[in-house]
Amino acid sequence: MKSKMSPLEFAKPVSLVGKSAAALREFLESLGEPGYRGAQIYHAIYAERKFDFAAMTNLPAALREKLASEGTIALPRIVRRHLSSDGTVRYVLALESNEMANQSGGRARQTANIETVFMPEENRQTICISTQAGCAVDCQFCLTATLGLARNLTAGEIVGEVLVALDDNRDRLKPQTNIVLMGQGEPMLNYDAVLAALRILLDQNGVGIAPRHAALSTSGIIPGIERLGQEKVRPNLAISLNASTDEQRDRIMPINRKYPLEKLLEACRKYPLRPREWLLFEYVLLGGFNDSPEDARRVVRLLSGIRAKVNLIPWNPGALPFNRPAPERVQEFQKILMDKGVLAFVRESRGQDVMAACGQLALSEAAAAAPIQAAEQRA
Ligand code: SF4
Repeated sequence: MKSKMSPLEFAKPVSLVGKSAAALREFLESLGEPGYRGAQIYHAIYAERKFDFAAMTNLPAALREKLASEGTIALPRIVRRHLSSDGTVRYVLALESNEMANQSGGRARQTANIETVFMPEENRQTICISTQAGCAVDCQFCLTATLGLARNLTAGEIVGEVLVALDDNRDRLKPQTNIVLMGQGEPMLNYDAVLAALRILLDQNGVGIAPRHAALSTSGIIPGIERLGQEKVRPNLAISLNASTDEQRDRIMPINRKYPLEKLLEACRKYPLRPREWLLFEYVLLGGFNDSPEDARRVVRLLSGIRAKVNLIPWNPGALPFNRPAPERVQEFQKILMDKGVLAFVRESRGQDVMAACGQLALSEAAAAAPIQAAEQRA
């Protein structure tokens, strides 16, 4: 159903990043302009990454001037770039229009920094984006959890993360871009904004990322999994599993008490996978906790009947009280899965020296500064 813009959304200047093609059309019509100009602006912002109306030279000069007074193309602001020795860049981004973005109506907690990671590879780049500032899910192996939840991001802020990362690396972009929703936050707990952002990111007239090159990772929020399965355009789904029993999972992922393994895996079995689509299960291997051969055998049983791939992620040593698994345990774990027909990959985290790896997106600037300086000196 076509929705009318609220008076609040027309408050001037109107922030255009995050608006769909239909919303931009309505906005242009509200200015007394033909609706098709909305599609031109949509393409200019998202596909061409023009963040200044003056650069949209296919628009009449008078319209560019009108847009400059009636609208803004506001993006998250880069506060810091942390450059890793492997080329990864961890960005600290300040959310631009915090007042407009605040969904709670309160004014006290509007200022929030988030983190976005750009990972260059030989033939592509992968951008890891945040969907919330902080997170309330409280996984015990995750530094983001120590922040708590500040607030949800808007669709515009989520799209803005990708636009900023692409633009900042424009001189070294490869043809293919992957996005992973694995930064700060639980995407399923900000579902509407996340899906609104994905519709722009995965639109070939928008940012243009192929849906098969996008992955959304959830801690196991079953209602979100069920909703995502019904979406026409959607990313790949990844489940953060990390345990082979409820007892284990309760200890490191309190969300398991609400959505225990049996129910979670039942939702996974019912997930309407398309041809050639897989469910990805992420399993952070915590030395001496969940990395035994028995764990591996239980994981095989848990995943039976699911078209699954497993990413095994050896724990990154850091501030939290877990151990890195021995390399032979990692190999044995992988072998048990593979021997039973479960595709399993060992994934080494990128950007560890700048705390850009999985579960590390929360360090204070002070804690992160030393390794960054070291990396900058090496560069
Ligand atoms: S792992 Fe993800 S869901 Fe869990 S606390 Fe960290 S950011 Fe939140």
